[in-house]
This record gives sequence, C-alpha cells and structure tokens, in this order.
Amino acid sequence: MPPVDICNSPGVWELKTLGDKSNCIMDLAQIRQDIVTASHILHQQGIAAAFGHVSGRIPGTERFIFPPRMSPALVRLDNLLELDVEGNQLSGEGRPNTEFWIHARIYKARPDVQSVCHVHPPSCVVLGSLGETIQAVARFRRSL
Ligand SMILES: [Zn+2]
Repeated sequence: MPPVDICNSPGVWELKTLGDKSNCIMDLAQIRQDIVTASHILHQQGIAAAFGHVSGRIPGTERFIFPPRMSPALVRLDNLLELDVEGNQLSGEGRPNTEFWIHARIYKARPDVQSVCHVHPPSCVVLGSLGETIQAVARFRRSL
C-alpha cells in the first residue's frame, strides 16, 4: 500500500487545524510499527498488563490493524491482525480479543479517527471502584 495523505481524507479536520502537514503522510509499515511501539509503552508504563490494546486505521479504508489476544508486551510486527469494521479478520494468525468491536464501531462511526486505544489502567479502575468519575481527555495527533 502506498503512503496516504490522511490530511486530505474526508472528515480529518482535526489535523488540518494544527496547520502542520508534516504528519499527514502515513504508510502501512509505519502504522504497524506505531502499534507495536504503543503496545510496548502501554505495558512498560503499567497502563495495560494482560488487557488493553491499541489499533490503527489503514488510511482511507474501513480496515484497521489490531493486535491478537495477548498482553501488549508480546505484540510484534509479525503477529498483528487486519480486521474490518464489520468484524471480519482479513489477515494474520491468531484471534483478536473480543473487545475489537470497540475499535470497529469507533472506526465505522468516525471516519476521521485514525487510531483507538482501549486500556484498564489501575488508577482508573480504583477511581471507578470508589464511584469517582473520570474526565475524558482527547488529543488529536498522527503519531501514536
Ligand atoms: Zn476493556
């Protein structure tokens, strides 16, 4: 797949507002590497132990790269899966965690979203157990 200019993809208005086009060109190899790197960071920082996953949309499509059912620490380039927003596994060995549907539905509903991260950080689990609310914060960037 050739590199794709995601800033000219429909609905990607957040990136345009940054005014910096240096992060617009994405290719599949970089997306796959970003997912591996992000997965390892989630593990190393204690944000995700056995559960948690990050995915990346293949630009301009309703397909995304998703790790198999395993700890983020074990995610590698050669075990990533390709799924579509309807739940079909298009490539890769192994099976996805059933929470891939969270990613699939976000990608289907929001064509401008290029990446999704779902985790259960211990600090958030504690706050939730205490009945405290957690304020959602969003930041839009090209890199994971
Ligand atoms: Zn979950």
